[in-house]
Amino acid sequence: MRIAEVRTHLLEHRLDTAFESASMRFDKRVHLLVEVICEDGTTGWGECLGPAGPNAATVAAYANWLKGMNPLETEKVWATLYNALRDQGQRGVTVTALSGIDIGLWDIKGKVLGQPVSVLLGGRWRESVRAYATGSFKRDGVDRVADNAEECGGHAAAGFHAVKIKIGFGVEEDLRVIEAVREAIGPETRLMIDANHGYDAMEAIRLGQQAAQFGIDWFEEPVVPEQLAAYRRVRAEQPIPVAGGETWHTRWGHAEPLATGCVDIIQPDLCGVGGFTEMKRVADLCTLHGVRLVPHVWGTAVQIAASLQFMAAMVPNPVRVNPIEPIMEFDRTHNPFRQAVVKTPIEHDGGVVRIPDAPGLGIEIDREALARFAPAEAS
Ligand SMILES: [Mg+2]
Repeated sequence: MRIAEVRTHLLEHRLDTAFESASMRFDKRVHLLVEVICEDGTTGWGECLGPAGPNAATVAAYANWLKGMNPLETEKVWATLYNALRDQGQRGVTVTALSGIDIGLWDIKGKVLGQPVSVLLGGRWRESVRAYATGSFKRDGVDRVADNAEECGGHAAAGFHAVKIKIGFGVEEDLRVIEAVREAIGPETRLMIDANHGYDAMEAIRLGQQAAQFGIDWFEEPVVPEQLAAYRRVRAEQPIPVAGGETWHTRWGHAEPLATGCVDIIQPDLCGVGGFTEMKRVADLCTLHGVRLVPHVWGTAVQIAASLQFMAAMVPNPVRVNPIEPIMEFDRTHNPFRQAVVKTPIEHDGGVVRIPDAPGLGIEIDREALARFAPAEAS
């Protein structure tokens, strides 16, 4: 079996109301899907985290090495492509592009063998996961305190056991938002805060010390991802568990944060860390260091399906009668193509998401939707 071609599909939608995290403004949604096509017509789908244009260009560059390789030899393909751009690659777009290809190969492997990827990864420990709602960005033209509180109250009412809100816009304003959201969701719903590396260490420590009274499960990306010493300071000097990792790539990118105690919870993204092949290695590293893994998820139903396959195969740590179950990040911001790209949307039911059990990722792509959301200049 040989790979014939790799294609990319850019998806774009301009938003009526722009929104912001502490580090990024979104006036449109742009995502990139990857389609790996074999000589016998079998296709596999993947997705890349991050800037779609550079990802597409890098996937196209990898095609030189990819064509003619056996798609079932996932380790060999991964190492070959990584090595091809290693000297000036190692992290960033070179790895996010490789991630999309690797996910596509595992989709093919599952289709060829007639098994869901979760079984190929070692086995299904669960058929569903609890989801937590991600949202509460800063939206243009609205009062952030009232807007976030109303949104999170809606997530709790919809059945989500936990919500995550965006902070990093200033300690005092963020504390007002956190207090209002806690009031809106009540004492039982779990609450997480995500600064998208909008603070420096001193601000993050002050925020954490004052926010802890509102019952926060984790404090995500308090500082920029390169500053590992600042991560350790934040973890040592305020009481909320620290999370991070969505911009750390490959086993090498995760090794030092794990070994030096930067985080309580690590959050690699399947579409950024290096695909299934590398995510499995990072999960193994977590067991070396006793750090909990909660995957980062920000993509379309292709990424959601891939993340669900991975989560189905996550080995409970520790294995016990009533295990600690992984939880799934579920993006609630506006994105009309998120579920449209698949024929059967992957939605939650009372905050619980069922894990597909069909071969590969367990999804069927809707090509009409890909055409509908292709940017005008590309169609
Ligand atoms: Mg985040």
